[in-house]
This record gives sequence, structure tokens and C-alpha cells, in this order.
Amino acid sequence: MSVTKKYIDFLRDISTFIPQERIYTDELRRLAWGTDAGFYRLIPQVVIRSDNEKEVSELLKCANKHLLPVTFRAAGTSLSGQAISDSILVVAGKHWEKYTVSPDATQITLQPGIIGQRVNEILKPYGRKFSPDPASVKSAMVGGIVMNNASGMNCGTHANSDKVLHSARMVFADGTILNTGDAESRRNFTLQKPEFIRQIESMRDLVRNDHQLAERIRYKYSIKNVTGLNLLPFITFDDPFDIIAHLLVGSEGTLAFLSEVTMQTEYDYPFKASAMLYFDDIKEACRAVVAMKKLTTENGETVVKGAELLDCKSLASVNDPTGYGLTAVLTETKASTAKELAGNIQVVEEALKNFKTHTPVHFTDEESEYAAYWAIRAGIFPSVGGTRKPGTTCLIEDVAFHIEDLPEATAELQQLLAHHG
Ligand SMILES: Cc1cc2nc3c(=O)[nH]c(=O)nc-3n(C[C@H](O)[C@H](O)[C@H](O)COP(=O)(O)OP(=O)(O)OC[C@H]3O[C@@H](n4cnc5c(N)ncnc54)[C@H](O)[C@@H]3O)c2cc1C
Repeated sequence: MSVTKKYIDFLRDISTFIPQERIYTDELRRLAWGTDAGFYRLIPQVVIRSDNEKEVSELLKCANKHLLPVTFRAAGTSLSGQAISDSILVVAGKHWEKYTVSPDATQITLQPGIIGQRVNEILKPYGRKFSPDPASVKSAMVGGIVMNNASGMNCGTHANSDKVLHSARMVFADGTILNTGDAESRRNFTLQKPEFIRQIESMRDLVRNDHQLAERIRYKYSIKNVTGLNLLPFITFDDPFDIIAHLLVGSEGTLAFLSEVTMQTEYDYPFKASAMLYFDDIKEACRAVVAMKKLTTENGETVVKGAELLDCKSLASVNDPTGYGLTAVLTETKASTAKELAGNIQVVEEALKNFKTHTPVHFTDEESEYAAYWAIRAGIFPSVGGTRKPGTTCLIEDVAFHIEDLPEATAELQQLLAHHG
């Protein structure tokens, strides 16, 4: 059977339950949906703007029947081609924006099409926030954030989607729906798919019984690691349903469609201050980051909640006027009261006396001032990309190091980049 015939049959089948105006097969719209924020392009055969879970379940059954690959898409801001397809592209943005906040606001249940920034707006009146914080949070949607395990300037690995996910509702390739947060759904799934559960348990036991492997996994995931599927759940959770829910995080839509997710929310400190610290030497900047990371308050909380290093190329791309060849560390501290914030700033300033900064350390708690710093950080990728030669493209990849290796590793990475142009 030819590929085209398969798609014609698939289209005929789905047309019985999806209205024509949400199925795109014309060249223009297929071309338009053929790219994400990365530099790859694949032209989908069919684009479907999905509307609800039952429909996704039916269309996955159809795609499965015709052996056709499916890719999901939320906002399409992925940088490595995660949200593009040369087969069937299922878009779940618009129509997937429902949410409920738990009575004490410590949890929020979200459909996948809500933009991250919108989640923060919903939670703001409760003094809470959505902890996964990619720089693209003003565009990226919950489905994409969870499925890429996207993280940014503040959440690190202590509050990424894997850490704050409570339960997930999903649709598998054969159309089966599972809600890991619902006892009846778990019971039905166990009856329907006993072998699936057994396999998850046996993988869990296999990983755990190999102590060296378990230790290696723990170490690897103590820093950002979104390469391949998420192995951490096998050593973090006993319950197979918790393992399944957390396996979805970072799976880039390869394991199931995420139709709803319940996540813990994070306390949003009302008092914040940031400083742009400038250093002549990148190693000195990294050493300062290592020292600041160790600072704790009287009740054991970390003083510095975020530190973002901007190298000289990044600073040049945003025309930073401070000086040539400098490294900046955008540093943030937060507190529950103004007094605590002042105390935190004092602790950081004291620690920085041991380091050579290019300009005096200056923290600001003026929102307009520090928001401008963070806007610079969020805009670095497009700014750096904008400095490339015409006709070239921009490749981006996260490189993560354990904090103790940061000074040496950063310097060596810079040498590597300089060596290879
Ligand atoms: C300027 C810029 C800055 C960025 N900064 C960061 C950053 O700081 N940190 C970071 O980690 N990333 C960053 N990114 C990358 C990207 O924005 C994030 O990974 C983001 O979370 C992707 O969300 P999205 O809604 O665009 O998802 P998409 O790109 O649409 O999809 C992401 C993945 O999720 C899958 N998916 C989407 N919805 C579903 C669903 N309902 N069910 C199953 N699978 C689904 C897709 O198939 C795809 O594999 C940045 C991108 C840009 C352009």
C-alpha cells in the first residue's frame, strides 16, 4: 500500500468524527506548520487542530490502525525539531485551556494548551507560581513545557516538571485513557493492561537492583538532563502509576498524549532583588557562582535563588555598554519580608568581597529595573541568533555541569568554541 493511500484512508476515517475545518491538508498551512523555533523543517501530510480527549483517542486509534506516525504540538517553540512532523501533526493549544486550582492553591490542574505565563497570572492572587520557567514562558504551553521538561533561570532541577508533577491524564497510542490521579482509572487500567504494569515494575526492579546504575542515574539527574527518556522515576517512585506519569516528563510526546496534568505550585516570594554582577574573568565569575550557591539563611534556605551567566558574546549581542570582554552573572535573591531581603543582599555582598568584580555590586529591588535585567536574559537567544552571518543558522544546546566543575568546565567550553570557530 502506498504512503499516500494510507493518508487518504486515515483522512476518510477521521473525517467521520473531526469537522473538516480543523483538518488542514492544503500546501500553505502544511508549510506554515512545518517548522518550530529550531532550524529543521518537515512538511506534515496532515495537520489536525484537536479539540478534546475523546477525539484524540479516536484519531490515535486510526493512526495506529494505518501505522502512521503522529507528532503533537503545543506552542511550537521547541528548538530541536520536537514539534514538527512529516506525517500527522496534532495541535493541542487552543481549546485546551481549562484549569482548576486546589482550595489551598498548592496544586493546579491544567490542560496542555495554557501558556506558562498565563498559569502564573492565574496563581498570582494566591501568592503562588508555576515553577517550570523556560525563558520562553510567555509563549510556551503546559503540554510542551512538561513534555520537554523545560526549565529555566530559577527552577533548576529542584522545581522542574518532574519534581512538581503530581499526576497526569494521558492517551496512549492505542487510544487507551489513563488518569494516574484517579483510583478508578488506575484500577481499570490494571485490569485492561496487566502486562504493561508488570513490565514497568520489572524495569523498576531491574534498575534498582543494579546499585551502580541507580547511583549513576541519581547523579546524572541531579543536574539538568533532558537527553532521552526520563529514567529517574524508576528510582524515585515505587508505584507504577507514579512511574508512568513521571516517564511522560521530557518524553517529547513519544509515549502518550498529555491531556491534563496536576502540578504542585510554588510559593512566590513577594520581595525580590537582582544584580547584574560584572567580572573581568569568566573563571572568577564561575567561582563566585559556586560560593553564592553555598549561602544559606538562618532557616537553611538558599540565599541566591538564581544565577545566570552571560558571557562576553551574549553581552555584545545586547550591546551591553559596561566594558569589553566581560562576563556578567545575573543574580537573584528573594524573601518573604523586606527585612529578610535586605539581610540576604548583605550576605551576598559580604561573600562577593572575596571576588574581583569589574563594577561595584549593586542589587536593585525596583521591579522596573530588575525586570529589564531578566528581559535581557530572556532575549539572549534571539539576540545572539541575530548576530549570525546571513545564510547561516543558529544551533542551541544545553550543556550542564555539576556546580563544583563549573569554573574549569566553562573555561574549557569557551576554548573549544573558540578553537572550532
Ligand atoms: C527564545 C526561546 C527561549 C527558550 N528558552 C528555553 C529555556 O530557558 N529552557 C528550556 O528548557 N527551553 C527553552 N526553549 C525551548 C522551548 O520553548 C521549551 O522547551 C518549551 O517548553 C516548549 O513548549 P511549547 O509549548 O512550544 O511546546 P512544543 O514545541 O509545541 O512541543 C514540545 C514537545 O512536547 C510535545 N507535546 C506538546 N504538547 C503535547 C501534548 N499535549 N501531549 C504530548 N506531547 C506534547 C511535542 O510533541 C514536542 O515534543 C526556548 C525557546 C525559545 C524560542
